[in-house]
Amino acid sequence: MDGLVGEAAEVHAALVEIGRARNRIECAEARWVVRAVELKLHLEIGMGSMSEYFERVLGYAPPMARERVRTSERLMELPLLRGEVESGQMRWTCARELARVVVPDTQEVWIAATRGMTLRQVEDALVGREEGDAPDSPRAQDPRTYLLDPFRGDELAAFRERKAELEGELGNRLTDGQAARLMAERSRGTGAADALPPRLPMMLYQCESCASGILLGQGSPIVLDAASIGRRVCDPRVFAASPEMLMRCKGIEIPTDLRRKVWARDGARCQVPWCRNHRHVEIHHIIELWNGGTHALDNLVCLCSAHHDAFHRGLLTLTGVPSTGLRFEDVYRRNEAVPVLVS
Ligand SMILES: [Zn+2]
Ligand SMILES: [Zn+2]
Repeated sequence: MDGLVGEAAEVHAALVEIGRARNRIECAEARWVVRAVELKLHLEIGMGSMSEYFERVLGYAPPMARERVRTSERLMELPLLRGEVESGQMRWTCARELARVVVPDTQEVWIAATRGMTLRQVEDALVGREEGDAPDSPRAQDPRTYLLDPFRGDELAAFRERKAELEGELGNRLTDGQAARLMAERSRGTGAADALPPRLPMMLYQCESCASGILLGQGSPIVLDAASIGRRVCDPRVFAASPEMLMRCKGIEIPTDLRRKVWARDGARCQVPWCRNHRHVEIHHIIELWNGGTHALDNLVCLCSAHHDAFHRGLLTLTGVPSTGLRFEDVYRRNEAVPVLVS
């Protein structure tokens, strides 16, 4: 910008340089962020999710962390769009919007149609477009309606929990609108038992020390590694094939009233302090039964399935007991790694 003098010129030049530097970092960040999601990097260091990883390592706010994961997952299926972002041809924010509509077959036309556009222009180009639409498709006549009724915390929690259950049942993600429709279409009784966490799924388990077969649940047998078995044995639902087997399994199940107490004490949430998971919560024995642990309230703690798994894989350690305070440590915390953004 010609004609700027004095401090204005200095400030402007500094900000232009910062803008360029940020573009370079954004570009590198996009490349590594998508790759990290692709590698499921959080599993390597015992974190509960990629969102948690981004919050802690890159300092993203939770909504942004979730958005990065969502967009990365879309970009993994859209190589041309991903290439645009990674090469710095397209800003992440534009790709984020496009990724909601673009499918592999329409990548090329959308990239050509939006090249050089600002975020605002891209948003305008996408109004009324559905996933799979091309830039010249007719715009939908029934654009989204946003319900503006505010949710109270417990209402939102109930909605999210039920939505997560439906997603788990259907095996795919749902928009809030799709979830609301499904909830409206189905009615579901909520007895007291629903307040308890579901126990781990069905498998056939052969105990290595006593060689007795323990049938946990139903369905076809699945071969699991030791960590996965350890995790399932923390709070299994035991179905015995015979009365003798039932005797051998006696005591392995946590009594229902005790499960209820653990669940209530921990507020039905994973107790890892930096965890945001409120779904797929399981009960863990701090000292496992085969190590002399017992079904005691102070030996049981709620963990989300991801952190529970990380614990049994030795990626997360836990000291103390719930009544006097628990201390968790994972690989990231142990190394006190401080993120450094390379210029
Ligand atoms: Zn466990
Ligand atoms: Zn967790």
